Amino acid sequence: MTTSSAKEWWDKDRQLIWHQMARYHPDAHPLVVTRAEGAWVTDVEGRKYLDGMAGLWCVNAGYGRKELARAAYEQLIEMPYYPLTQSHLPAIRLGEKLREWLGDDYLFFFSNSGSEANETAFKIARQYHRQNGEPDRYKFLSRYRAYHGNTLGAMSATGQAQRKYRYEPLVPGFLQVPPPDCYHCPFGKAPDSCARECAQIFDYTMNWEIDRTVAGVIMEPIITGGGILIPPDDYLGRVREICDRHGALLIIDEVICGFGRTGKPFGFMHYGIQPDIVTMAKGITSGYLPLAVTAVRKELFEAFKGTEEYDHFRHVNTFGGNPAACALAVENLNILEKEKLVERSATLGEQILASLSEMADLPHVGQIRGKGLLIGIELVEDKETRQPATPDRVNAVIATCKDLGVLVGKNGDTVAGFNNVIVISPPLSLTDEDADLLVNKVKQALQEHAS
Ligand code: PMP
Repeated sequence: MTTSSAKEWWDKDRQLIWHQMARYHPDAHPLVVTRAEGAWVTDVEGRKYLDGMAGLWCVNAGYGRKELARAAYEQLIEMPYYPLTQSHLPAIRLGEKLREWLGDDYLFFFSNSGSEANETAFKIARQYHRQNGEPDRYKFLSRYRAYHGNTLGAMSATGQAQRKYRYEPLVPGFLQVPPPDCYHCPFGKAPDSCARECAQIFDYTMNWEIDRTVAGVIMEPIITGGGILIPPDDYLGRVREICDRHGALLIIDEVICGFGRTGKPFGFMHYGIQPDIVTMAKGITSGYLPLAVTAVRKELFEAFKGTEEYDHFRHVNTFGGNPAACALAVENLNILEKEKLVERSATLGEQILASLSEMADLPHVGQIRGKGLLIGIELVEDKETRQPATPDRVNAVIATCKDLGVLVGKNGDTVAGFNNVIVISPPLSLTDEDADLLVNKVKQALQEHAS
């Protein structure tokens, strides 16, 4: 049997695969990956790249973990499928494990993707209020720049018009407010002297929308895909207080920030709050199999315990909580614990930030920021005005990194002109040697294009 050449694979790919997010370029081809190990991926030409994005921010335990494959395989042999309209042991075991990570106050609803976990959260929140005698609460508030998923509801909560305008009309009842975007403060303030207008805006909005029509607020602890926006330390606490005062639920989207990405088990844990609902996906299986969770406080669950036809949660999905995915997730969380990868994310993240900060004086490096292994380098055209770097400059840095064997990402809203944050979000299992290599290549690329 002859194997296809790289060119043949690229040609077949072009004929068969409709790529996510991709524009059509007649001469370009995607990275067609054949193998992956640790933090490294190998393409059809046999070239190796250090994956500084952990796939799509998800391969937290690193590639090539045979224990994960084994956990899924053994579960598939034992019992490959049963729906969670009934139950099975891997889901129960994962529930126990998630309580260790999140706390005892939660129950878990399983689905398949981050988008679906958020849709589930919206439906739970609306029905919860309805059953609690507040049927007018249907609105959700979220922030500009944030991404919450590709389905119509999750997209309606997303605060990047670029991803939405082609698909209108979206779901009514979703509103965005400005985010804690301290480097480009929408209120023209500075973090050390502002009045946290970015938190207060929720209070204002709930008043003018009439708070008894607001079901909840959804936010990531740190906006990730929208540009790695680290909020002031007291921001989440203030939003929590405002939600409590107005009777709105606080839904925290941990799809990227969860499972150690920011150096804590979950991102909200940096900020001393308790969410009502927590959504998770990606890192829960390190991306090896699809799985997502909507974690809900017991108090909310209690509201669904009636015996009437209309007071149970009328929501089902076929694949959510697949036994093999659950068994794999338990093993994945065991690995993160055994190898102390959450702690490693915190310490390695600090080291990487410190090393990258040597580039802070380059003329086109605006700000370098991050928490744990979630790091952004904001490029600008002008340091004084903070005008975002042009797509050409940002793309040149990313292309040079790739030529040097390192894959990094960027945030994305080309329409708003903010497509200028280089993102580093590698596996948490990154070795010291790989971390050095990653940082050195990124620095080299910055020196070439940001000076
Ligand atoms: N929420 C956040 C914060 C995300 O980053 C993403 C995906 N990147 C989602 C939700 C949607 O997850 P999925 O792609 O698994 O539907």
